Amino acid sequence: MAIATVNPATGETLKTFTPHSDAQIQQKLEAAHQYWLTHRYDSFEQRADLMRASADFLERDVDRAAELLTTEMGKTLASAQAEVRKCVEGMRFYADRAAEFLADEPLGDPSVVGARRALGRYQPMGVVLAVMPWNFPLWQVMRFAAPALMAGNAALLKHASNVPQSALYLEEVFRRGGFPEGSFQTLLIPSRTVESVLRDTRVAAATLTGSEPAGRSVAAICGDVVKHTVMELGGSDAFVVMPSADLDGAVAAAVEGRTRNNGQSCICAKRFIVHTDVYDAFTQDFVSRMSALTVGDPFDPATDVGPLATEQGRRDIEELVDDAREAGADILCGGEQPDVPGWFYPPTVVAGITPEMRLYLEEAFGPVASLYRAADIDEALEIANATPFGLGSNAWTEDAAEQERFITDLEAGMVFINGVTVSDPNIPFGGVKRSGYGRELSAQGIREFCNLKTVWVA
Ligand code: NDP
Repeated sequence: MAIATVNPATGETLKTFTPHSDAQIQQKLEAAHQYWLTHRYDSFEQRADLMRASADFLERDVDRAAELLTTEMGKTLASAQAEVRKCVEGMRFYADRAAEFLADEPLGDPSVVGARRALGRYQPMGVVLAVMPWNFPLWQVMRFAAPALMAGNAALLKHASNVPQSALYLEEVFRRGGFPEGSFQTLLIPSRTVESVLRDTRVAAATLTGSEPAGRSVAAICGDVVKHTVMELGGSDAFVVMPSADLDGAVAAAVEGRTRNNGQSCICAKRFIVHTDVYDAFTQDFVSRMSALTVGDPFDPATDVGPLATEQGRRDIEELVDDAREAGADILCGGEQPDVPGWFYPPTVVAGITPEMRLYLEEAFGPVASLYRAADIDEALEIANATPFGLGSNAWTEDAAEQERFITDLEAGMVFINGVTVSDPNIPFGGVKRSGYGRELSAQGIREFCNLKTVWVA
């Protein structure tokens, strides 16, 4: 894919970029390495000052930043502004909390291991390469970069090829905050160049958010050279509704959960599994509210759902729905691509899905909801877990015993009861099964790219 800004609402190419040359890549790798060597012992206070200054700049620049996101990947302007503010919050969170999260961990009684003093000390790993997706062009990066920089690592970003201006903007944010040269750099490179960067001895570790094939490739290369990785891959999360649920709240959350970011979030609820006692009522209301959403120009405040980010993304969604339709599924609303420029796809609800249909197992990365009817909690869990993914599931029930059952038995990295899955700096984020491994955010997130050095003093 060319490195370019293409407006998804019109299909027009706005700006193209020449990939960095080998010499430029080498120069950036060396700058990152030198930054780490020079600054790894800086105090948390020094780094916090820079992080707060970067956050202040971003906060002042919210309108320009949000406009960039909407232009490059089509999310509504309101959601782009919310994304920018979330980055500011995440930066301040790690500026405030890094020292506490990475404080020495003393062993209660060192004499049990024959020492006078024994502890765990967190030290930065070095240069970390982040391979990042386009769906939250700033937030996906920031939730890696804020903790990584506060820990004392150097960050290299290989962003998705369709958001180069967002990638370069992130460099500007940290530069404006006063972070030294080499601390955070964007590599404008195609994905085929990632391997050579991963194999470079100056790179210590990698993190990837994106598709399973991309994750598999990066993890395999890092496995070959024994480098630590964090993988945040796709999700096809369940949203289970039981009879005791607040149905109105559940439907509102289902619509919001399925269509936020134009349906392109790894934690969007994608499969709606509804108890038979409330299936008809839920379906009627859900379909009615999905149909009522306004699809259109993401800069128009009246728009609920903008275009999909790429032409390929729209094609993938269309193929998934067509495959289900041809195999006998019921399309309860949407399902037809509008005849307008840009990569729009309407909010769509599909019922009558069988295991032979691709929608049963594959992730729908667009505003397409799959509906399932379950006879009881056992069947609901069986359908919920019948996916190779396991990221952030939702269950709606007021029954305490059912809540416990979902918490225990949903195969997922995160379970949200009576609410929509969110990423928040305060809580760990990550998946199981083919949704990946490792955790972002909270204390766990900042520790991922640290060496927990065991210290033993006789
Ligand atoms: P990709 O996984 O292809 O892209 C994500 C990032 O990985 C981009 O920076 C991309 O670079 C890079 N990349 C792709 N292939 C490789 C590789 N072999 N080695 C190294 N880096 C690679 O996502 P797509 O944009 O193609 O979306 C496809 C699907 O991925 C979606 O339908 C969805 O299922 C999933 N996805 C999940 C996301 C999440 O939040 N978990 C986010 C985005 C997508 P480049 O752009 O240059 O190819």
